[in-house]
Amino acid sequence: CGIVGYIGENDSKEILLKGLERLEYRGYDSAGIAVRGGEGVTVFKEKGRIADLRAIVADEVVGTTGIGHTRWATHGKPNKVNAHPHQNTSDRFTIVHNGVIENYHHLQRDYLAGMEMESDTDTEVIVQLIGKLVAEGMTTKEAFSKTLTLLKGSYAIALLDAEEAQTIFVAKNKSPLLVGLGEGFNVVASDAMAMLQVTDQFVELMDKEIVIVRKDSVEISTLDGEVINRQPFTAEIDM
Ligand code: GLU
Repeated sequence: CGIVGYIGENDSKEILLKGLERLEYRGYDSAGIAVRGGEGVTVFKEKGRIADLRAIVADEVVGTTGIGHTRWATHGKPNKVNAHPHQNTSDRFTIVHNGVIENYHHLQRDYLAGMEMESDTDTEVIVQLIGKLVAEGMTTKEAFSKTLTLLKGSYAIALLDAEEAQTIFVAKNKSPLLVGLGEGFNVVASDAMAMLQVTDQFVELMDKEIVIVRKDSVEISTLDGEVINRQPFTAEIDM
């Protein structure tokens, strides 16, 4: 339902939680964040309100890269296990996803046969597939691109790689997603509203682009590798 992300020099937790609170009006049944700290990626998620999520987020886990999600369940009932973020079996990859993957059953059968799934979501198939392709030798960007070509349906995705702390991988298809630009940081949001407290400069993303977000750069390319240069727009502040 809602996606936020932050990569910069400050701890991401409060920016993510505030961003999710600003998306609460859209409705949701569960929420979660993942932050990349010294010890790798830590996931906090909970059924219910952002306030319930806040209550379980540990202050001592600090991470300057993070992603967050409010879920409106489409596949799998609303509970803590099905809440996002989701991780692959090795916990190297962590994903948040809005939308519906129509062919997730086929993907599971054709590429992930025999693998035990932790959740009942369509989303988990995406992150497990990326993990499998990387285990077979692809780079994360290659595995992400390849996976996107296999997905049918709608998605806005933000992906963390525990072994590449300085990057958030992003893509969308038929679901909204923006990158927000800051000084020494960048953000990701499914709705500019979520991040207006930190920036009013946003870059629109088009369907099936692959976007590499770092704290001081945003690289957009098509799935065929063509580099896209796109100017930001100024979002109207109406807070
Ligand atoms: N289809 C995904 C799920 O059920 C994402 C739903 C959403 O957009 O919040 O977990």
